[in-house]
Parts: sequence; structure tokens; C-alpha cells
Amino acid sequence: MDELEKPTPPPEEVIVPEETSEIISVNQEITEPEKTSEKISINEFCLNCGTKLQDQFCHHCGQKDIPQRQTLGELWTNFISSFWSYEGKFFQTTKHLITKPGFLAVEYNKGKRESYYHPARMYVFISFVFFLLFFSLPDENDTNDPDFKPNGVSLSQSNTPDMDSSSIAKGKKEKKRYFRLSNLPYKTVREYDSLQESKPESERDGWITRTLTKKSVELNQRYSNAPEKFSEDFGQAFTDNFSKVLFWLLPVFALLLKLLYMRKDLFVSEHLVFSIYYYNFFYLAGSVLMLVNLVSWLAWLAAAIGIWIFFYLLFAMKRAYSENWGKTIFKFTAFTLLFSLMLVLGLTVNALAILLML
Ligand SMILES: [Zn+2]
Repeated sequence: MDELEKPTPPPEEVIVPEETSEIISVNQEITEPEKTSEKISINEFCLNCGTKLQDQFCHHCGQKDIPQRQTLGELWTNFISSFWSYEGKFFQTTKHLITKPGFLAVEYNKGKRESYYHPARMYVFISFVFFLLFFSLPDENDTNDPDFKPNGVSLSQSNTPDMDSSSIAKGKKEKKRYFRLSNLPYKTVREYDSLQESKPESERDGWITRTLTKKSVELNQRYSNAPEKFSEDFGQAFTDNFSKVLFWLLPVFALLLKLLYMRKDLFVSEHLVFSIYYYNFFYLAGSVLMLVNLVSWLAWLAAAIGIWIFFYLLFAMKRAYSENWGKTIFKFTAFTLLFSLMLVLGLTVNALAILLML
């Protein structure tokens, strides 16, 4: 019993000096090329640029030394391994992007680039996924909303007092087959005009209502026989314009940061790198949010992602610009207000431009 009750002495702390691990990694770096040097005898010269090979990868252009003619098996192996190293880097970068706000921008601006997926390439890929999901996933309001109205854009509800609930229900059923931008009772612009003219001057629609009504009647006519054409065109126009607004606001994002961190000795380009990484995160989180929104019992997760998207920038600013929390919170608030203003402005200008061009 005594033996058992005796407290076992704490194991001596094994202090591994940091140097040891560094030595190990240095050793690995030394031994690795030796291992691979056995493999490099495939070609004497790089097949891509003709430089004499010293390693598995060309020191001049970076191409891997692989046989000129590949069997199906070699082709497959090289395809998988290049895919894997590429995708591995992508997933590693994505992990950092989600969990460490601002970290990748700091790394990039420190010059550490090859270890991570390039921010611009990531931007192209992630924004593509985002917009793909954005336009292919069913709109929640279309399926779940009990107050569902068959018109996507109801420009003039007041003009349709004769629309009762049964016709709305009918519209809902027919939604898939017939395109209706709005519940307007007019089939043509002429019909609307003559109806307006029959009314006394004081009861006629104002200029804005008239213009909008005519535009939507025109659209109804144009797409009534080809509803899929409308969603295609609209999707295209919206993608173009939404991404256009966001694209134009990217430098604004960076310039606002430059303004807020005027005293820091940083180039606009360095703020821009930070901005691109933020955009990457935003599109990525937005994509995940859209998928999570499809599952009703994951509402808590959607809320959590929403909160993370909002506060991500605060933590990113804290890490990348390393000022105290007071200053960072102040600048975060100022930035959020200013950028929201720019966003509203940009979207308004664009919406007006679209309306005028229709
Ligand atoms: Zn080469």
C-alpha cells in the first residue's frame, strides 16, 4: 500500500532547447536534396528552359524534372502529386485565412510568399465560388417565406388593388412557367399609358412611378416567353455589377486604410495586400454562410459566422497594424462607417446607371 500511495515524483521537465529543433530542420534541409538527387537523373537539362539541372526542380524556372514522355501511370502520378501539393498549399492558406485574421497579409508583406497560395489567385478562385453559389442556390424567401409574393420586384403594389390572395397563389404556382417581374396588370406599355390618360391629372402616377412601371412592363414583355433568359441575363448583369462595385471598392478599401494609418510607413500596395486578403476571407465566409443557411437547424452557426465576418476585420487590423486595442477599435469603427458609406454610394450609382441604360 505504501508503495502505491507514495506520490510519484513529477517527471523531470524535459526542456527541449529551441536550437535543437532548428538544427533538426536544418539537417532535414541538407539531407533532402541528397535523397532527391538520386531521382534527378531523369533529364540532364530542364525540359522547359534548358538549364542544366542540379536538383529535382530547375533552379532557373522551377519546373519539376519529369520524363518527357509519360506513361499513363506517370501522367496520373504527376497529375495527382502536383494537384496535391497545389491544393495542400491552398487548404493550408485557407486555414490561416479563417483562423488568423491579418496573418497572411503580414507574412506576405514580410516577403514570405512561396509558402502560401497567392492572394490574387485565391481571390479569383474564391470569388468565383462565391458568385456561383450566390446565383445557383435557391433564395430562402422563394421557398420558406409564408408572405411570399410572386413578384420579385414589386414596384407598384398600390397600382394593383384588385390582386387578391388567390391570384397571388396562382402566380406562385405559375412562377416556374411564366416570367413576371412584377404584379402589374398591364400587358403592354400602351395599355398602361391609355389607362393613365383616362385618369384625371391628379390621380396619375408620378414621373418615377411611371418610368419604373413602364420599364417593368417592358421587361415583362421581353422575357414573358423566356423566363430562363431573364434569370440568365439578370444573373449576368448582377454578377458583373456587383463584382464591379466590389472590384472598384477594393482600392478604396486600401486607401481608407492608408488614410487611417497615415503615420505608419506603409505603401498603399501593402494596405492593398491586406485588403485582398480581407476580400478573400469575406467571399469564403460568405460562401460557407450560404451553404449553412440551407440547413435550418444550423441557424446558430450562421449567426456565429455572421459575427465572425463582422469582427474579423477588427482582429485583422489589430494583428496587421499592431496598435493598442483602443486605437484599433476606434479605427475599426471609423473604417466600417466610411466603407459602408462608400458601398452604399457605389451601389446607388451603379443601380442608377443600370436603370438609365435599360
Ligand atoms: Zn528550367
